[in-house]
Amino acid sequence: MKIRSWFKTGLFAAAAGVALSAGAAQAQGSLVMYCGVQEEWCRAMSNAFEKETGIKVAMTRKSAGEIYAQLKAESSNPRGDIWWGGTGDPHLQAAEEGLTQEYASPANKDLHDWALNQWTAAKQRSIGIYAGALGFGFNTEQIKSKGIPEPKCWADLLNAKLKDDVQVADPNSSGTAYNLLATVIQLMGEDKGFEYLKALHKNVSQYTKSGAAPAKAASLGETAVGIVFIHDAVVFAVQGDPIKPVAPCEGTGYEIGSMSIVKGARNLENAKKFYDWALTPAAQALAAPAKSYQVPSNKNAPVPPQSPKMSEMKLINYDFVKYGSSAERTRLLAKWDKEVKALP
Ligand code: PLP
Repeated sequence: MKIRSWFKTGLFAAAAGVALSAGAAQAQGSLVMYCGVQEEWCRAMSNAFEKETGIKVAMTRKSAGEIYAQLKAESSNPRGDIWWGGTGDPHLQAAEEGLTQEYASPANKDLHDWALNQWTAAKQRSIGIYAGALGFGFNTEQIKSKGIPEPKCWADLLNAKLKDDVQVADPNSSGTAYNLLATVIQLMGEDKGFEYLKALHKNVSQYTKSGAAPAKAASLGETAVGIVFIHDAVVFAVQGDPIKPVAPCEGTGYEIGSMSIVKGARNLENAKKFYDWALTPAAQALAAPAKSYQVPSNKNAPVPPQSPKMSEMKLINYDFVKYGSSAERTRLLAKWDKEVKALP
């Protein structure tokens, strides 16, 4: 089934209100959380869970590729318990490599098909927690001062007048940037996709570590264009910054932001508690107040009104199984390093 139809059905079923039960329990041990979304949402989640359960959370925010690399490095002596957030591809790679473990939450029955598809693809080792489409944001003042038309398409980002004025993250560290790499290959084919990325390289001033950083840079006018998940550009647009979010005209990819339990987790029971809780409408409703406008995976969770309307975009039928496989992700990253990043 294509995601577009999933997004058309039932997406807007909303349940208002955050109903965390009052009062923290006594100290109930601890949980080590590797968090792949924006810092503010990471903190909101860890604080709310701590308050609800009394379980002490040690949270670290990192980009998706970095968390994957950390799990791999720690695999003989796991330190983390739960990996919450970040693009689905590295979660799938970790699942395939046995770095994470199976779990079937009672909350699964309340999730959209696209979230459960991640669970099936991962052989029950990862689950979808939110979705968001890839695109870019441009600084309206910068584009005006360059005297070029507002960019609407991926092709527009190759305009020579944007030289050194596009930012995007490095796909080795960032899930967002790997999503871009996989998206252009699926849209254009591998050869043309790499040609596109090489041409884009001429306009890229820097490859950032974190995927969302280019949105902030574009909102501040430090770059004319930031390639990001569209909801990351919306954050700055809704606060009045001169940035316009764009869903590219040729079509675009999207992410299934995911959650996985670390294989060998020292605090396994607490990791399962967090997992079940993170799938509830109440926990998923914590996103929007923390300025995160992804589409939640629980059918009963409220969809933030600021969320980009994925049902109105031209979305590709992203092949998560292929692009989340260990062999493909490793191959494409090595090829990008050699053929794109190494260019002058
Ligand atoms: N920011 C937001 C709002 C996201 O949804 C995601 C991915 O899920 C990211 C950032 C990813 O961060 P990174 O590209 O640094 O891995």
